[in-house]
Amino acid sequence: MKILVINTGSSSIKYRLFQMPGSLPLAAGLLERIGEKGGKLTHRDERYKRPLVVESDIPDHKSGLQAILNLLLDPTNGCLREPSEIKAVGHRVVHGGEMFHEPTLITDDVIKAIEEHAPLAPLHNPPNAVGIRSARELFPGSLQVAVFDTAFHQTLPPHSFHYALPRSLYREHRVRRYGFHGTSHGYVARRAAEHLRRDLRDCNLITIHLGNGASMSAVKNGRCTDTSMGLTPLEGLIMGTRSGDVDPALHFYLARNAGMDLPEIEKVLNRESGLLGLAGSNDMRDILKRYESGDDDARLAVTMFCYRLKKYIGAYYAVLGKPDAIVFTAGIGENSPQIRALTLEGLEALDIHLDPEKNARSPDDHHSILEIQRELSGIRLLIIPTDEEREIADQTMSVISSPGPGEHPPV
Ligand code: ADP
Repeated sequence: MKILVINTGSSSIKYRLFQMPGSLPLAAGLLERIGEKGGKLTHRDERYKRPLVVESDIPDHKSGLQAILNLLLDPTNGCLREPSEIKAVGHRVVHGGEMFHEPTLITDDVIKAIEEHAPLAPLHNPPNAVGIRSARELFPGSLQVAVFDTAFHQTLPPHSFHYALPRSLYREHRVRRYGFHGTSHGYVARRAAEHLRRDLRDCNLITIHLGNGASMSAVKNGRCTDTSMGLTPLEGLIMGTRSGDVDPALHFYLARNAGMDLPEIEKVLNRESGLLGLAGSNDMRDILKRYESGDDDARLAVTMFCYRLKKYIGAYYAVLGKPDAIVFTAGIGENSPQIRALTLEGLEALDIHLDPEKNARSPDDHHSILEIQRELSGIRLLIIPTDEEREIADQTMSVISSPGPGEHPPV
């Protein structure tokens, strides 16, 4: 059986097709510029070396999904004979609010609830819902499952998820910390437990996801107990273009003294800050090259990036007592020895001892896990490549394999 994983953005669809069980990737791709001039579909089939690129205008998401399906069904190069081979479609959905704690079989009510959560994720939930509606029409024989980016963090206790604001803002406007990247944090936590040969419920972990967006979680006895992103993904660590933590009074200050209105402030904090704001680039590889050659802006950006990480490690260490392992993942976490080293430097008093030689390596593929601590280290330091699509496929599989009473036939 096959499961198609799709991640629908406002003008893009990212997808990956898996053979299940076993989560063997068959094909993957990215469709860009939906609804704009010059749509581009880049499709990779695992059997062929070169990607296939198709350029044509794609007016909407349904036509986009149809174009993807046409490629998958192509009689010479496709890996499907008929759409019904896709038993289920797993959808990445950014915001499930307090309603969704786990992957969920999609019904009309679930789609309505995803749309009702749009005020919490205005850029993501509406296109996610459009993707689901389109997939339901194009794959009428497939089950549809929603996997929520917020779900893993729904175990946060109240003292961790509330802001110190009037309680009415929580009750009436759902203002609280939700956390994001949950699929990635959950996946690497599960893999860390397997690697440590422990039940996840016996593991205390700090998981650090460092991609363009960056976030960190404290996982206590296998359950997320704190995370760095909040009501929106803006809170917490320094990211590619997001500021992370700032004084909330910054907003009033900018409005009063810099003549900026709310959309401008939102744009600065979300799209023009972080590494981009500090060093003019949101690509950590560029910044590290400039850091090595003594560029002042790059030096400040890298130092601040790692200092923020170090502060959060200290906080989560205190929250957990002592973690069993610290896990690095995503583009920067998996591939940058310098960032890992600068972040962990000086933490020996916390029994964190990095081995510089082991740290110089990066995982060879999506399956290998590296341990990079010295032998004397009381805390294991792990690099675990994240694989959010695979996790969505696995969670989709678990939903369709365990039907609720009368919900759907077993597959
Ligand atoms: P996304 O959040 O878009 O999925 P990724 O997980 O791919 O992002 O991470 C992108 C970030 O990873 C970029 O800042 C990129 O520069 C950084 N990155 C990728 N490879 C390396 C590397 N070898 N060294 C340092 N940074 C890297």
